[in-house]
Amino acid sequence: MHRSVEDHIEEFLEGRLEGPEREAFEAHVATCRQCYDLASQMRVHSELLHAFRAPAELEPPPGFYARVMRRVEAEGRPSFWNLLLDPVFGRNLVYASAALVILMGVFLLATEPVSHELASTPVQAMAAGPAESVDGENLQTGRDSLLVTLATFGE
Ligand SMILES: [Zn+2]
Repeated sequence: MHRSVEDHIEEFLEGRLEGPEREAFEAHVATCRQCYDLASQMRVHSELLHAFRAPAELEPPPGFYARVMRRVEAEGRPSFWNLLLDPVFGRNLVYASAALVILMGVFLLATEPVSHELASTPVQAMAAGPAESVDGENLQTGRDSLLVTLATFGE
């Protein structure tokens, strides 16, 4: 019934709604707070629109203004999920996530624990120093794990 009121509200406001349709319209608006409010708002907007309307302007389909107004009300505040569904924002989010994954990979590589397995005592380990103990194999393992991380992210 709400939908029927939306479709007829402009005819009603312009005095073109007659007969049983008008009776049904008035009966529903009298009992339905939602449609009563809608009709009240529509009357204000309709008067404004008519005040500014050019004589030869095309008429929008019935219920157009009512549906637009309801949409505007319903979507007054974009929700978080609507943002995610937005194509541009979603793509930016993917880029940002990819950048974050790469940064994390670099961070893991940079902070990878230094292996002292070859040194038999702590003193020898300290003498060996941190720079030399990162051998090629460790670096290769780190690269592989980063590539795996990126490949998994892409799926
Ligand atoms: Zn209603």
